[in-house]
Amino acid sequence: MVHYSCCRSQSNRPCLWKVVVVQAPPDHRITRIHVEKGCSGLPYVQEILARLPGIPVREIPDRFRPEAPPSPPDLHKSKQELMLLKNRGRFLSSCPGTREYRCCGYQVLDIGNGCPMDCVYCILQAYLNAPYLTFYVNIEDLFAELDHHLAVDQKRFHRIGTGEFTDSMALDRVTGLSRRLIEFFAEKDSCMLELKSKAVVLDHVLSARHNGRTIMAWSVNSDQVAGKLEFFTAPVEERLEAASRCAAQGFPLAFHFDPIIRHPGWEEGYLRTVQQIFARVPAEAIAWISMGTFRCMPRLVKIIQQRFPGTTFMYDEFIPGLDNKLRYFRSVRVEMYRLLAAEIDRFRHPDTCLYLCMENDAVWKEVFGFAPEEQGGLDQMLDRAAILARQRALSLRGRGSEGVCRDG
Ligand code: SF4
Repeated sequence: MVHYSCCRSQSNRPCLWKVVVVQAPPDHRITRIHVEKGCSGLPYVQEILARLPGIPVREIPDRFRPEAPPSPPDLHKSKQELMLLKNRGRFLSSCPGTREYRCCGYQVLDIGNGCPMDCVYCILQAYLNAPYLTFYVNIEDLFAELDHHLAVDQKRFHRIGTGEFTDSMALDRVTGLSRRLIEFFAEKDSCMLELKSKAVVLDHVLSARHNGRTIMAWSVNSDQVAGKLEFFTAPVEERLEAASRCAAQGFPLAFHFDPIIRHPGWEEGYLRTVQQIFARVPAEAIAWISMGTFRCMPRLVKIIQQRFPGTTFMYDEFIPGLDNKLRYFRSVRVEMYRLLAAEIDRFRHPDTCLYLCMENDAVWKEVFGFAPEEQGGLDQMLDRAAILARQRALSLRGRGSEGVCRDG
């Protein structure tokens, strides 16, 4: 497994080029662990610490709160320290979509916050205020809440994901949570778990009993964007190789083109990634593919300027949207979506749901010729896609996992 990393030779911030290749999953970046006093005796905490031998551990008071959030230059350091603590709130919530844009009815399972990888555009830089990566260790409470939630709301189909406030798999080699989740969801009807990542931490989950109820998903981008703006992540071709291995085990798959960023040669770059996907994985295994162009709150631009001087992609033509986030002009977004959609349509299975993330009906109509409501709503479209992909993916188990596209 090869991960690209950064030289970090002269400063404590990543440079803009990936120059060193190391054999290490993202958890290898962790240099210190902080454990809440009340959690330190938990067997699960001991299990995690045993997978991080040699890393200094310090005990911190329960309900530890930093005096101030980390400043942007400190965010680099905060990605290398892990805090194990108890979640005293709810684990499940609705995805924080907005009224103004089409939302997909996703439910977020909050397993922790922050990410050891370091994407220049990552919106978490502007959202999170903890000085460390955090991971919740009271997982009995997590599973009890999930059990209760799924039991009381049986009429609804649940799509649940862990990749909203962190990367689903980045720390999973040490936490081992995803395997537990996969096997929990395998026994449940009317629900689907999505694990979304830019890492290729896989070996411990491939043999899990999944029953087709976990979608293994990867965020993908052009090689240029992945190479210059996604530090400590796996290269796109490694992500697709990982997806191919999952398809061979009968897991349904998903891909997220998000954020789509305009850069020199973006057309060729994104078309090549589409072709690579369908060359590497069987189209039948894919439940959905999403597309979302770069968007951010204005303060993220300032953070990027401070942390990654020399970055220029955010100096483009943007307008504030109805949710106050900066977006490309509508005509630019539509042009980008149409190009990708046309290429994806060449290869995708007819029941794979291709959708837009956080866009309005006008853009949907310009890109696809219909608004989600005309097909029952985006949540219904995705529920249907998940159910159909489960059957197809299970039938692929043990069979060849290559794709059909020969252009890639
Ligand atoms: S992988 Fe995702 S969560 Fe992690 S830094 Fe990149 S965008 Fe943020």
